[in-house]
Amino acid sequence: MSAAPDGVQADFPLARLTTIRTGGAATWFARPGEEQALVEMLRWAEGENLAVGLIGSGSNLLVGDDGFQGLAIKLDGDLAAIEREGEVVLCGGGARLPSAAAKTAGWGLSGLEFGINIPGTAGGAVRMNANAYGGELARVLDWIEVCTPAGTDRRRPEQLDFSYRRSNLRPGEVVSRAAFRLCRGDPAAIRATLATMRERRREAQPSGIKTFGSTFKNPDDERAGGRSAGQLLDAAACRGLRQGGARFSEVHANFVENFDGATTADVLELMAAGRRRVHEQFGVELEPEVQVLGAVEWPSGWEL
Ligand SMILES: Cc1cc2nc3c(=O)[nH]c(=O)nc-3n(C[C@H](O)[C@H](O)[C@H](O)COP(=O)(O)OP(=O)(O)OC[C@H]3O[C@@H](n4cnc5c(N)ncnc54)[C@H](O)[C@@H]3O)c2cc1C
Repeated sequence: MSAAPDGVQADFPLARLTTIRTGGAATWFARPGEEQALVEMLRWAEGENLAVGLIGSGSNLLVGDDGFQGLAIKLDGDLAAIEREGEVVLCGGGARLPSAAAKTAGWGLSGLEFGINIPGTAGGAVRMNANAYGGELARVLDWIEVCTPAGTDRRRPEQLDFSYRRSNLRPGEVVSRAAFRLCRGDPAAIRATLATMRERRREAQPSGIKTFGSTFKNPDDERAGGRSAGQLLDAAACRGLRQGGARFSEVHANFVENFDGATTADVLELMAAGRRRVHEQFGVELEPEVQVLGAVEWPSGWEL
């Protein structure tokens, strides 16, 4: 094996980089702070035949208990910066969306308000086509830069094939920068919108818990009768259901909470139990929204 580039560490625990706080270590881990270092790491990983996994804020991520065999990357430094060029805001892929929303409000720029409640990064939000309260990422996204071992290329939103919680970005393609085209507004009015959005969120969702937010996508299935995944789980008596140290939240049934030293296996078992109950009761097959990093064993009851 060739020597790892500067900044690449071996055997790095990943649980603390996720909001659910489960899972094992990455065989290799790095926090590149600028594009050249990132591309160099991607080339090294390609040369060594290593899988590459991106970790943003880890707010929709479940890491396998045996960890991730490959190079896990978390963007830092310039690749997590938030800068302004007129009405365009340039975010490093690792920039936190709530920070970008707050900063742009202070600059009197409107359009990123929806990001105040999404505890992820710009890169993770693009990959996941994140959305909240009708705010649409694609509406304000101007372009992204994607790093691969071949270098960096610029893509427009229409090239990303966005649909509900997905884009066409492939594993190992790194969103290193995202540009948002915003419009001018009154900073006080934008801040007031942020405050209202935060308040609405506080009322609807649990806070201060270890969770990755929505576990399952809202189904596009007429048997759901227009109900969200959370409403179906609730109707199937999943609220508060436990497996090991994991439970479906008492406040929001589509949120899994690590309340007492849960493992990823606990979370998967719980997800399988919820999915089975909803299927038995309504015939609806819930699909996970949460992304998995590393190998996991899906419980035997997962397949319906
Ligand atoms: C309390 C709570 C509330 C939430 N509310 C919402 C909500 O209202 N709306 C919503 O859409 N989501 C919500 N989420 C889910 C989550 O915040 C979003 O999916 C977010 O976009 C994930 O970003 P992240 O940086 O945390 O990505 P991660 O969770 O770290 O990763 C998610 C996926 O994106 C990939 N990825 C991360 N960074 C990059 C990058 N730079 N380049 C390429 N791929 C990358 C990862 O490899 C992984 O496949 C919520 C989560 C929590 C915990």
